[in-house]
Amino acid sequence: MADTTRDTWWGYTEEHGWIILDRTIERNVAGASKGLLFLRCSDLKLFEVDWDEWCPPPYFYAPNYIESLKSNPSKQAVASAEFNAIKTQEPKFCDEIHRQYKDIMEAESKKKRQELEKKHRTFLESKNIIYRGVSCVSEKKHTRVTHCWNCKNPLDNSIDLECKSCGWILCSCGACGCGYNKTI
Ligand SMILES: [Zn+2]
Ligand SMILES: [Zn+2]
Repeated sequence: MADTTRDTWWGYTEEHGWIILDRTIERNVAGASKGLLFLRCSDLKLFEVDWDEWCPPPYFYAPNYIESLKSNPSKQAVASAEFNAIKTQEPKFCDEIHRQYKDIMEAESKKKRQELEKKHRTFLESKNIIYRGVSCVSEKKHTRVTHCWNCKNPLDNSIDLECKSCGWILCSCGACGCGYNKTI
């Protein structure tokens, strides 16, 4: 049965064959800063395409691709049968996209945390303060400050690491509350 809550785009390219784009993942919504993630149906591999490149050729909308084969009826019949068969597996493809996307997002946030932790160490070293580690913020605390005292930039709400010494949520520059009173 057709699932009307799905929002997908089916396509065909000479290089990849049948491909599917799931617009329910953040990366595939207009305005996302990174490229689109398509799934190649033949081997269930996600691959990235720049927004600018997503147009024919090489990225044909599947029904248009089939339509374009009308001068070759036998090829068109094969393509049409292939597409109809593959479309019935849409839920499987969408699940696969979401599974792989989750892994990508987890790897990215892990990398972001590691980079921030390194900046935090460097920040503390520059202030001659001992590094006592960072921990994940389990629940968002209300913070009085909206700007970082060190770099003056607005604090990034997506950061969920805090300094074990002072309990402040880290700024993207690596600063916490350590050294705050001494310098101001
Ligand atoms: Zn800062
Ligand atoms: Zn601190």
